[in-house]
Amino acid sequence: MLTRSELPENPVTLVLQDADGHQNIITTERVRGGKVRMTCTCEQGKLLGWCDHRMQLLCLRYDGVVESDDDTEFHFEDIVIGTQLADSADEVEVALTDFRAALEALHFERALALNEVGLRSLADRARDLADATTHLDVALARFRKHLAAGFA
Ligand SMILES: [Zn+2]
Repeated sequence: MLTRSELPENPVTLVLQDADGHQNIITTERVRGGKVRMTCTCEQGKLLGWCDHRMQLLCLRYDGVVESDDDTEFHFEDIVIGTQLADSADEVEVALTDFRAALEALHFERALALNEVGLRSLADRARDLADATTHLDVALARFRKHLAAGFA
């Protein structure tokens, strides 16, 4: 991980476009103590203390980025790679994938007959969803904590 003084560009600004065309401005800056200060102009960020835009970028997914070049993405990666914030975003991505799969599996099981086999299978899927939900809750709390740490 590069130190703050070694970073060629800090902060870095990226623009992410939603599917409906709405553009969000994400500014990322390494601050003292290896922490990262990352802001996004979206409503979700204000309401929830985290957002999908910051998670996508921290997971190095640039599909929605507009008017960018490789240099900007390299500079962004110099700032975030190896930080606790990037690690916690990766954990949220895994937890979200598990959560969506468990939710879909439960939805599918609802079509089963209300007999012994069907009910036990439904109970298993419900337990899987409960576990995935708890994991997501913990992962998001950690992500929010590391996002907030950049402003401490
Ligand atoms: Zn956002």
